[in-house]
Amino acid sequence: MTIGNLNPTEEIGASAWHIDLDGHRILLDSGIHPKIDGAPSLPLFELIAKEDLDSIAITHCHHDHCGALPVAAKYFPQAHLLKQAAEKNIPEYPLYTHEDVDLLKPRFQGFKYNREVEWISFQKTRLGIPSPTLELFDAGHTLGSAGVLIKSNNGKSLFYTGDCCLHDQTLLRRAHFKNVKADILIMETTRGDHNSNPSHVYERRRFANSLVKAQREKRSIMIPVFALGRTQEVLAEIALLMQEGRIPPQTIFVGGLGKTFTEIYDRLSHHTNRSHKDLHFSEALSLQVLEPSAIQRIKLSKSRIFVITAGMMSENTPAHDLALRFMSEVEHTIFFVGYADPDSPAGRLKVADKGTPFFFSDHVQEAICRCDREHFDLTAHAYRKELLELVRQISPKTVILAHGSTPSKDWFAQQIQTNHPEIQTIDIKSGEFVTL
Ligand SMILES: [Zn+2]
Ligand SMILES: [Zn+2]
Repeated sequence: MTIGNLNPTEEIGASAWHIDLDGHRILLDSGIHPKIDGAPSLPLFELIAKEDLDSIAITHCHHDHCGALPVAAKYFPQAHLLKQAAEKNIPEYPLYTHEDVDLLKPRFQGFKYNREVEWISFQKTRLGIPSPTLELFDAGHTLGSAGVLIKSNNGKSLFYTGDCCLHDQTLLRRAHFKNVKADILIMETTRGDHNSNPSHVYERRRFANSLVKAQREKRSIMIPVFALGRTQEVLAEIALLMQEGRIPPQTIFVGGLGKTFTEIYDRLSHHTNRSHKDLHFSEALSLQVLEPSAIQRIKLSKSRIFVITAGMMSENTPAHDLALRFMSEVEHTIFFVGYADPDSPAGRLKVADKGTPFFFSDHVQEAICRCDREHFDLTAHAYRKELLELVRQISPKTVILAHGSTPSKDWFAQQIQTNHPEIQTIDIKSGEFVTL
């Protein structure tokens, strides 16, 4: 089996793994690097451009895993596009048009979790060789997220975790990887460099108490979030606080894409492995999309709650522009609820000293933050101890460390060597192909 890392950089960016299994070829994820502009943000498709690719399997609908899919579909017009069956939205980006995205729809094939299916392989049609199989496992990270298990017909196997959460979130239940065994494990390592792992329950309680307190003090609150996953988990917390009478009913301002995904969560609530199945956002909350034109004039003095994209406050997003308004007013608060890349506007704002100019973004250059900021760890990624336990359970011969900073990967490499000296860990660099 040959495994190639097509991520253009060494950091968490454009996830894309090329797997060649006895001549059957699949691409696992086709992400886009959120911090790089233009073509360099794409996976290194040119390294495999001359090959017949059978299929592209997508683990979940976050930019860094599926954002380059329309480009990949043009590179490999014959490849089948495989994903979990329930959700069908694709983020937008200028590297392709709405029409390109629309054209992809008929090429998708959706699969339910825990069904082993054959790849449609060109080798099979050309040489009559049986196809490997593919099986998706609920990854607990966002709606429709999946880990992918690949098995060849002569007993080789590989499991790719994608992004996964191994503890319950407010809505989504933990990943369902219980019966997975594989020779090779490609594992996300996002939180390998987090030495504190507070319990999700504890962080939820802290978040709820702070929100109630801010409402009592008539502060407005801004919560920058990803449109898929984080938005719905935060909205669930807010809806539960309203149902308990701890905060008054009120309109909650959200981003447009966040609202669209929230409607899909509602539609699939009974088909999802989640808590609060009867919590329907459309009934429990009055959601209003914050239009870009309203950001400059909306009144903040009315203790309003904004659950706004994007989580990194990238330029040209509502979160970027609304953050500038929040920063200028002492009486309001920004709640950070998860990871923000230190190189992003949100990452810089998170650690900026109050009242001191700091570089915020290329667009505005310097800014001064006068408002309060609070931090909560409501992560949708597995804690590092949980991932070590997963390694023990899957008991692979080789672990390929993915989706993490160098300190994160180093931590896992060292821990696995100490606890499981029989397991080899490798870090496949950007553009490298390794045969195992
Ligand atoms: Zn993700
Ligand atoms: Zn990711």
